[in-house]
Amino acid sequence: MKKVLIANRGEIALRILRAARELGIRTVVAHSEADAESLPVLLADEAICVGPPSPTQSYLNIPNILSAAIVSGADAIHPGYGFLAENPTFAEMVREHGITFIGPTAENMRALGDKASARKIAREAGVPVVPGTDELQDPEEAKRAAAEIGYPVILKASAGGGGRGMRLVHTEEELERAVLQAQEEARAAFGNPAIYLEKYIEEPKHVEVQVLGDGERVIHLFERDCSIQRRHQKLLEEAPSTLPTEVRDGLLKSAVRLAEHIGYVSAGTLEFLVDREGNFYFIEMNTRIQVEHPVTEMVTGVDLVREQFLIAAGEPLRLKQEEIRASGHAIEVRVNAEDPDKNFRPSIGKVETLLWPGGAGVRVDSHLYAGYRIPSHYDSLLGKIIVWDLTRDAAIARMRRALEETALEGPGLKTTIPFHKKVLDNAFFRRGAVYTNFVARRMSE
Ligand code: ADP
Repeated sequence: MKKVLIANRGEIALRILRAARELGIRTVVAHSEADAESLPVLLADEAICVGPPSPTQSYLNIPNILSAAIVSGADAIHPGYGFLAENPTFAEMVREHGITFIGPTAENMRALGDKASARKIAREAGVPVVPGTDELQDPEEAKRAAAEIGYPVILKASAGGGGRGMRLVHTEEELERAVLQAQEEARAAFGNPAIYLEKYIEEPKHVEVQVLGDGERVIHLFERDCSIQRRHQKLLEEAPSTLPTEVRDGLLKSAVRLAEHIGYVSAGTLEFLVDREGNFYFIEMNTRIQVEHPVTEMVTGVDLVREQFLIAAGEPLRLKQEEIRASGHAIEVRVNAEDPDKNFRPSIGKVETLLWPGGAGVRVDSHLYAGYRIPSHYDSLLGKIIVWDLTRDAAIARMRRALEETALEGPGLKTTIPFHKKVLDNAFFRRGAVYTNFVARRMSE
């Protein structure tokens, strides 16, 4: 592998660029017109514009991205996360053009991309899933299942993602209409009306397992707790979780079993909900690198993106399970351009003052620089601050210090940093009493 086309933007484009450079691989960043002045573009060996600001015309534009790879002579493509990362047709087309796709196989993606079919595969592999149904045919089927499982239940889009396409239902009276509405919404949002039903787990923890596979063998790199969410979207993540050892071991074994069952290749994440009794249930697999991967890198010392490159180059996994050790505690906060005082309303503008934190145990992954104008066409992630320390308490204190040090200002620009400071000061958070309803229940004032 000599030259990689990075088919993404923002902090993850920069993250991939850094990994490539350390491996001596040249970088080409495919960017939209709105990102011509972005940091990954400025730092790349080459940059190539793939279309107007609108993602459908640029970052999701398969013909343009493939042409960019061919024209620039790239022999590999890294899709990052979002955009085309979990599109099996894209992965197939890349390979048909003799270009290495840095990620799983199209078959891996097809097996797990549809959430209802992922549930079936998990059951085949003997991994517990949330009590629920396969794809629903009609409201009657939903009623029968919900009567058996017990309310509340949650309707979920099979093609859903990013915390969208879920609907909570408390009673049978609401169910029929909810099914029809959820199908309609799923059709509008994801182009696929398929939905399924799950028992709604009250106050779970969201715990996910990082894996690496080479098609033959799968290893895990322990877990992350991502229970701090707003509207099902993650805001702060940490590793390790506070789960009791036996629960944690069961979870890790299940994750490896499921990934091995489908011959998984590359980095992937298996997401689980864990209830108050310590029962865990698989909910979905993300067949890509995730936003929160740095917390795992901090506790294990493994560069996950580098491993993705090496696996894609056809090398067998060079790490053995017993070589993976987790030490200390890592926390990541997502710095989003959103106003936490105004219901997390998106905020855009120009970055005038920028000082990221530093010092022992602090890492920043961000594409910002002073003078950078934040484009309005994309998600609100400005960067991630990640800290590591020997214990969870020390990591919390370190993150508090890091946030205190950060200066990120511009006219009208608001970020989630003040929100994160409140989380870190919250007594429930400090005790580790964190469930997916934490933000709604403990941060509502
Ligand atoms: P997405 O693919 O959109 O991220 P997920 O299936 O991963 O959706 O779920 C996202 C979040 O929604 C979970 O972390 C959890 O907070 C909540 N959630 C999903 N399924 C359930 C459920 N059955 N019971 C309770 N909460 C759920």
